[in-house]
This record gives sequence, C-alpha cells and structure tokens, in this order.
Amino acid sequence: MKRTAIVTGGTRGIGKAIAVMLAKSEINLVLCYNHDSNSAELAKRECERYHKNILLFKGDVANETLVSTMINTSLNAFSTIDIVVNNAGLNIDKPLLELTEQDWDSVVDTNMKGTFLVSREAAKAMINQETGGHIINIGSTTAIRGRKNGVNYCASKAGVLAMTKCFALELGPKIRSNCVIPGFTVTDEIIERFDLERRLHEELLERKIPLGRMAWPEEIAGAVKFLISDDARYVNGQKLIIDGGEYMF
Ligand code: NDP
Repeated sequence: MKRTAIVTGGTRGIGKAIAVMLAKSEINLVLCYNHDSNSAELAKRECERYHKNILLFKGDVANETLVSTMINTSLNAFSTIDIVVNNAGLNIDKPLLELTEQDWDSVVDTNMKGTFLVSREAAKAMINQETGGHIINIGSTTAIRGRKNGVNYCASKAGVLAMTKCFALELGPKIRSNCVIPGFTVTDEIIERFDLERRLHEELLERKIPLGRMAWPEEIAGAVKFLISDDARYVNGQKLIIDGGEYMF
C-alpha cells in the first residue's frame, strides 16, 4: 500500500529535498507552505518527476483551523497519513534588547506551535492505523548551544526537541518520533541571512567544521530517510545531528 507524508515547508530548501527524497520512494505527498506559490509549484513539478500524487497546501502551520483542514484534505485524498515532517521554520534574528513581542510570537508560533498542531492532528489519524506512523521534527543545533541574536529561534527549537521526547513517550508503540538536527545547510534563506555570497569563506573559517563545508539539503533528507525506514525501527525519541562534526553534543 502507498504511504502518505505531510512535509511542512516542503517547497523550499531542506523541506524540498525531503519531499523529493520521499517522492523517489513513491510516497504520496502533501507539501505545505505559507507564502511563496512560485517555489511551491516548482517543488511540486520536481516531485512529480518521480511520483504523481503530490498536493500543495497553502496555509500557516500555526493556524489551528488551517492545520485541521490540511489533515482532512490529506486523508480525503490519500486515506492515510504515515509520515509527518515538521520542517517549516522561521528566523527573525535580533539582539535580545531589540526583539519585539511580534518577533517572538511569529517565530515561536511557526516553529513550535506549528509542530504541536500538525503533530497532534496527524497523530489522531496515525495512532488508529494498524501501521502506525512517524513524526520527524526538524530541530537546530542552536537549541542546544544557543546563538547570539536568536533568542526566539533557539527557544522555539529547544521546544521542538522537548516535544520530540514527549511525543515518543506518549505516542509509542504506534508512532515513532525523532528529531533531525541540521547543521549549517545550503539554502536560499541561510545564504541571504548570513550574506554567504560575500563571506562564505570567512564563515567557514570561523566555524571550523571538521568536514570543511556546509551540508547539502539532500544530506539532511538522508537522515530523514533512515529514521522512517525499517532499519531505524527501534530508534525513538532521539536527535540525529547532521552537521559535519561542528558540534559534538
Ligand atoms: P527555508 O526558509 O528555505 O524554507 C522554509 C519553508 O517553510 C518554506 O517552504 C516556507 O514556505 C515554509 N514556512 C515558513 N513559515 C511557515 C508557516 N508559518 N506555515 C507553513 N509553512 C511555512 O528554510 P530551510 O530549508 O533553510 O530550513 C528548513 C528547516 O530546517 C527549518 O525548520 C530551519 O529552522 C531548520 N534548520 C535549517 C538550517 C540551515 O542551515 N538551513 C540549520 C538548522 C535548522 P514559504 O516560503 O511559502 O513561506
């Protein structure tokens, strides 16, 4: 039987690489995004090279009504939800003393509340399926070590890590929940935010990543592929860090 995955933020960067990896395994896809319809259409077309059952869903993961509609749309189209990848993420970087309530709410709502809402609604379906399901949360190393100008982001990703453990405790044995933690990964968002077209060399020197380069989104997707596979059938509530050895927690 064909499986179905929901990938939030599955239209750009890491999420898109995860979507393409899943499409190559002939998994039906619901790709959720918030604004950028052009990127969404491009991601859909790329996935359709490998598998035809791809739906786009435009909506904010932090909006309970929209999340519920997305889950119902997925179930109506494909009957089951087997994999959820909570990848949608937002950064609004500012020093603590300049961070507004709105900056806090936008980031924490997208990264943390979105993960909560999508997981809760999808789990209601997955827990009653004979085959259960998987939740993969996308975290960040900064949840563990902190980062200047990222109070809202780091706090939200620490919440995502904590939620992964709570999901694992509450939803097993039907649902396995794990967290994939990307390191410094080549995406448009990070190239722009860190001004990497100009200062990639400096940034790499500063970071001293033992593997000497950034990660490719496909390398993060590879970790997701492992965690949803039968090879990982006894892995639950864990974090898998893919950062070239930059941090060894
Ligand atoms: P991008 O900014 O490239 O893509 C983010 C995706 O999330 C887009 O598809 C975007 O849709 C979607 N999205 C954002 N907000 C919402 C929302 N409220 N509701 C629904 N969809 C939303 O991010 P990356 O690919 O760089 O990162 C992916 C994940 O990996 C994030 O969780 C990020 O925090 C994490 N991460 C990334 C690292 C990196 O180096 N790149 C390092 C560590 C963690 P749209 O474009 O339409 O708004």
